[in-house]
Amino acid sequence: MQQVPARQPIEKACYWMVTRTREPDLALEGRQDADVVIIGSGFTGLWTSLFLRELQPGLDIVVLEQGMAAHGASGRNAGMLGANIDHSHELAIEHFGRDEAEVLIQAGQKNFEELFQFLAARGIDCDLERNGVLNMALSTRQFEHLREAVRSAHALGASQIRVLDAAETRAEINSPLYHGSSFNPDAALVNPVKLVEGLKRESARLGTRFHERTRVTAIEAGRAGVRVRTLGGEIHARKVVLASNAYSHKLLPRLGRYFLPLYDYVLVSEPLSQAQREIIGWRRRQSVGDARTFFNYYRLTADDRVLWGGSDARYHSGNRVDEACDHSEVHYAALRESWGQHFPDLSDVEFPYAWGGPICATTRLTPFFGTLKRGRLVYGLGYTGHGVGSTRLGGRILAHLALGRSDRVLDFKMVRSKPWPYPPEPLRTLAVSAVSEALRRVDRGERPSLLLRALDAMGIGFSS
Ligand SMILES: Cc1cc2nc3c(=O)[nH]c(=O)nc-3n(C[C@H](O)[C@H](O)[C@H](O)COP(=O)(O)OP(=O)(O)OC[C@H]3O[C@@H](n4cnc5c(N)ncnc54)[C@H](O)[C@@H]3O)c2cc1C
Repeated sequence: MQQVPARQPIEKACYWMVTRTREPDLALEGRQDADVVIIGSGFTGLWTSLFLRELQPGLDIVVLEQGMAAHGASGRNAGMLGANIDHSHELAIEHFGRDEAEVLIQAGQKNFEELFQFLAARGIDCDLERNGVLNMALSTRQFEHLREAVRSAHALGASQIRVLDAAETRAEINSPLYHGSSFNPDAALVNPVKLVEGLKRESARLGTRFHERTRVTAIEAGRAGVRVRTLGGEIHARKVVLASNAYSHKLLPRLGRYFLPLYDYVLVSEPLSQAQREIIGWRRRQSVGDARTFFNYYRLTADDRVLWGGSDARYHSGNRVDEACDHSEVHYAALRESWGQHFPDLSDVEFPYAWGGPICATTRLTPFFGTLKRGRLVYGLGYTGHGVGSTRLGGRILAHLALGRSDRVLDFKMVRSKPWPYPPEPLRTLAVSAVSEALRRVDRGERPSLLLRALDAMGIGFSS
């Protein structure tokens, strides 16, 4: 495999996108009409289109995307699909209370099973492997926390999760760093671009119209409806659904108060040989993460490459989200170093693919929803690292909000209330760096600082 240099445009840098062969759909030109316009062709936009079709099959729906479908985080992620709607059960209790945490666990479990049923029923192939997820402890203290987290998950009804001691853990993944782990069978692997393409094909088959390379530049609401302007045309619709996650502040600056756009970076290796695989073990091909706030996560691809990522996401000052943020040499070097620390005998493995993508972090680390523009615009954003699965539930929420239909998902506290806002710049950059440093110290084994304890007391908790 030829070394692909870093700093390629995302379509060439991202392993998942490189294997896609289709041409982009035609851009929007001139004036058109629709019942509902969806902005963004990632998981949120596509699931919303599918739920809208289910609720009202004859609806005229148009999806507008500035790149090709999966241009944002949906095409750039690790493809680790879990049942979580919350960021962690502990944080869900802190932010929403114990009863709601249980409700979210149940809703997540149902969403997870329904997602598989949908893929099977519609024949969507996305290299799905239902192998579960290992959460690793890198110190005895982390292992104690993991065991506590498993006990609290059991008490909330997630009884499928179990603890593995150090020997059992290393029998699965042979790294000298691991002191134990927890295993949750309710997790799967997907090729995210294949999943997006499958959902898009299904939505198009049911009648949704798609325009790609079509950047929305303005949304203007009037009494009769809403006008969505793009670089080359405009659409008049009854409702607009904003499914643009970390990009949303560019169209609606007021939403930017509620989230930080952050960039997560990953590497993808050349295919591992049989001998290299045997060094790691990994016979069951699980997704893997660890118990730190800034953790490493990794998985195998269908052709046995390692996708190696890190959650030490970068905030680009001034809420920047653009192609200049797609690469970070500092993050790539740190990722290579952490790979070598985890698997010293494999430190010479090459990683020809490297890229980053924007996630959207609220102070609750869960999405939020609402309406603007006299109720004509519906939004749902705030997906961080669990969006591959939870965006399906978000799509269901958005479809019901857009059509004014009632459903129990609209009663979730994450739908009914807003997260605490972040401060504006320049305070924002300072706050991000202070909180990140405090969380890093906890990852290194220190006690949470006064700052973190104060934020926890306010119900703003960031540690996973
Ligand atoms: C490196 C990385 C690894 C991750 N790993 C995982 C993982 O393993 N598991 C997991 O569950 N989650 C993971 N995530 C998170 C997950 O990918 C996201 O939560 C999820 O994809 C969010 O989907 P979305 O549709 O809401 O947003 P996006 O996929 O970002 O979609 C928004 C879309 O809107 C379009 N858009 C924005 N503005 C405009 C405009 N003005 N006009 C037209 N179109 C516009 C964008 O181009 C984009 O396609 C990861 C994310 C990253 C970046």
